[in-house]
Amino acid sequence: MHQMTLAEIARGLADKKFSSEELTKVLLARITQLDPQLNSFISLTEDLAIEQAKAADTRRANGESGALLGAPIAHKDLFCTQGIRTSCGSKMLDNFKAPYDATVVAKLAAAGAVTLGKTNMDEFAMGSANESSWYGAVKNPWNLEHVPGGSSGGSAAAVAARLLPAATATDTGGSIRQPAAFTNLTGLKPTYGRVSRWGMIAYASSLDQGGPLARTAEDCAILLQGMAGFDPNDSTSIDEPVPDYSASLGESLQGLRIGVPKEYFSAGLDPRIAELIQNSIQQLQKLGAVIKEISLPNMQHAIPAYYVIAPAEASSNLSRFDGVRFGHRCENPENLIDLYKRSRGEGFGAEVQRRIMVGAYALSAGYYDAYYLKAQKIRRLVKNDFMAAFNEVDIILGPTTPNPAWKLGAKNSDPVAAYLEDVYTITANLAGLPGLSMPAGFVDGLPVGVQLLAPYFQEGRLLNVAHQYQLNTDWHTRTPTGF
Ligand code: GLN
Repeated sequence: MHQMTLAEIARGLADKKFSSEELTKVLLARITQLDPQLNSFISLTEDLAIEQAKAADTRRANGESGALLGAPIAHKDLFCTQGIRTSCGSKMLDNFKAPYDATVVAKLAAAGAVTLGKTNMDEFAMGSANESSWYGAVKNPWNLEHVPGGSSGGSAAAVAARLLPAATATDTGGSIRQPAAFTNLTGLKPTYGRVSRWGMIAYASSLDQGGPLARTAEDCAILLQGMAGFDPNDSTSIDEPVPDYSASLGESLQGLRIGVPKEYFSAGLDPRIAELIQNSIQQLQKLGAVIKEISLPNMQHAIPAYYVIAPAEASSNLSRFDGVRFGHRCENPENLIDLYKRSRGEGFGAEVQRRIMVGAYALSAGYYDAYYLKAQKIRRLVKNDFMAAFNEVDIILGPTTPNPAWKLGAKNSDPVAAYLEDVYTITANLAGLPGLSMPAGFVDGLPVGVQLLAPYFQEGRLLNVAHQYQLNTDWHTRTPTGF
């Protein structure tokens, strides 16, 4: 039962092969049995899950239908869930029970999805390895000595290990696509503004975007359908109609123009990954796509710009966690300054403190123009590169990451080494574009992802290309041994 995709579950439930309650119980038992190896959940919500599953079964018995009605999922632990701990992977919020549901959570619940729990993540979504969580590192089910990617590593590891079919995640600089690549999943970062950020604890507000992590493009279409849409509570949410994503999955790739940036195949890319990317290009050519070399000349400046902008926004967003308004409060403060200092010093981990310091520095008088303003200018150049490229091609294709998942602890002593691994993903966030990662093969038994980028609001195009690819390849069907 645990091998079923969301699409298969929807068919099984519609055909009355099993009930949502039965399926939910099977998956909860599987999580209890297998998750101790992975640490992919921070909280399990068994009672809520059974209650939601029973309610979904009743709605179906009363004639309702819908692809998410009775479908088991989990939420990354930065989506606020009413009455349930929402920790953001941080000691700071270990005792925080959100007083309301995030829009994404409320929308999926209304569609009938069943919440099995809250998944582990890098603290405040800062990281690419899921090692900065206060609740401990998450392990990659493909090799328990390796990281699952981050910051949505809990959602990725749980779905890859078949603990559940799909989960929500967020992507500020790659945190949906990179863990998807590291665990053999399909993950989609939507256009900025497509999915409401209301109730999603902010890391870098101009870059953060929620999206689906699942095994197939077909399932990402189903989950995105339940997440996307205008939200008057989020002033950056965009009032554009949401297309039927599943309906966009039938289109031929004949004549599709795929741009491959020459900058992607530089010295930093593992040659074995380069070869797998070439194979995926050939596969898409067989399906009718036309390949064109393009250039993204400002790509080399994207990492430094991102690692100024994201910490700058984080330093502002995280100021609310002061032991008074939100978050952990130290014991016996002597005065207000002592209260702030010790509450924040005890509540935040090392990576979060590092980013707050970098961000506050970049925003300070005298350095604002030199760092923050300059980074914003680079951001515009990166966007302009994409706009020029999309005049010539329909999608852009390349690797999701330069290397496969590294060993736990391998980059702990050198944060910049981890930042460099984001080279292919962060440009989409800087430009606000949608991006998808899908399985493209293995290197030393570890999964490799191919990334597709599209113009604004072309999520349907990305999902269709990935779906056509998945109809003709079987990488996405591989299951990690032991799961
Ligand atoms: N690795 C990037 C960072 O640490 C991206 C994280 C994310 O997308 N949340 O900022």
